[in-house]
Amino acid sequence: MLYDVIVSGLGPGGATAAYELALKGLNVLAFDKEKFPRYKPCGGCLSLKVERALPFDFKGVVEDTIYGVVFSFKSKRRLPIISGKPVGYNVTRDRFDNLLKEKATGAGAIIREGEKVTGIEECEGYVTVKTSRGEYKAKVVIGADGANSIIGREVLGFNPKMCAVAVEAELPLGEEKSGPLRGRLIMDFGCIPHGYAWIFPKNNNISVGIAGHTDKVKGRIKRYFQNFVKREKALAGLDIRDVHGWSIPYFYDEKKKVAKGRVLAVGDAAHLVDPFLGEGIYYAIRSGQLAAKVVSERIHSARIDISAYNEVIEKELYPALNAAYKMGNLVYNYPRLWYTILRTAPHLMERYYNVIRGEESYENFYAELISKIKAKPWKLAVRWLKGVLATRG
Ligand SMILES: Cc1cc2nc3c(=O)[nH]c(=O)nc-3n(C[C@H](O)[C@H](O)[C@H](O)COP(=O)(O)OP(=O)(O)OC[C@H]3O[C@@H](n4cnc5c(N)ncnc54)[C@H](O)[C@@H]3O)c2cc1C
Repeated sequence: MLYDVIVSGLGPGGATAAYELALKGLNVLAFDKEKFPRYKPCGGCLSLKVERALPFDFKGVVEDTIYGVVFSFKSKRRLPIISGKPVGYNVTRDRFDNLLKEKATGAGAIIREGEKVTGIEECEGYVTVKTSRGEYKAKVVIGADGANSIIGREVLGFNPKMCAVAVEAELPLGEEKSGPLRGRLIMDFGCIPHGYAWIFPKNNNISVGIAGHTDKVKGRIKRYFQNFVKREKALAGLDIRDVHGWSIPYFYDEKKKVAKGRVLAVGDAAHLVDPFLGEGIYYAIRSGQLAAKVVSERIHSARIDISAYNEVIEKELYPALNAAYKMGNLVYNYPRLWYTILRTAPHLMERYYNVIRGEESYENFYAELISKIKAKPWKLAVRWLKGVLATRG
């Protein structure tokens, strides 16, 4: 049997691609090594862009609506910047991903859970996919196998070192304690090199985590996490044991190709993660949709050529990811300066919320941020000095 498309991995990227392709009438076979619903270490915050992108309602699995962020610097000097309009939604990944997988099943994709893809081989006119249970053939293969993607690494040559390392725990908190945390994210800067720590509220529980660039953190991630937990008042008295480590393959090179021959990658497998805040769910969903569009338009031609997916990703997703890369460099190389900017001009963060909502471009926002820094360097320097004294005192 020759399938039109085989999808490896059923996270947001793979499930979306499988859903869209099956809706278009293609013959789709999709594998995931896990059985759903499955846990995935993740803050589970969906930006409002996800709501714009998904063609169906997912509110049944939303656990909290987010209106803004309480920023802090080394757990001090809290700065709430809360908007009148929603910025995003918090979900738990077991329920959200299960919903996306069910949508793919409903659209007609054949789903095989608990079956791991172990290798792929491109042959003349088709691709062979080897799994833990057998061997299959398809005209095109989509690698949606996440941060440790075989396809991203072995076929497309992504560098596995270009990752952030993260740890996350999900803690039951109860109505009384979780109530005051609802509606907002807590983000702490300056607590880890090139990264941040978070507390994201869910329905009666919270996601607590920390992430930083692998080469800067140098194996000390658990220590940074413990220090953050010790300092955070909201976490006092909680027994945090079930901590999971994972990596975040951030975007790092606008020249990188995401399709080769009859194989392409979506989401984390293609390093489509915002290098500033680590947002990856939207990019996984959107790249899954773009992949499905390119593949479905070409699958019936005599010589299938899916290289157009490279141009589509370069045009639609790389400009924002590139701006996020520059933002990340600015903020994480000068976290105090970033915090000072937030205090001096909180309205800038309101503008950033528009970026998260998909109402303004990342590129414009970054350009404006730089022009603000250049316009008032002395004012920022004085505030920065005050900030240094305040966090040391
Ligand atoms: C700690 C942490 C916190 C995060 N917080 C956020 C957040 O709040 N908001 C946000 O937008 N992003 C966040 N991210 C990033 C986000 O989790 C990812 O970008 C997103 O899950 C990418 O989706 P995906 O479909 O590409 O990959 P995944 O969601 O990782 O899905 C990949 C799937 O492939 C399966 N798989 C892997 N290998 C194989 C194989 N060989 N064969 C078959 N199946 C396989 C896996 O079981 C998995 O189901 C966070 C990441 C981490 C690590």
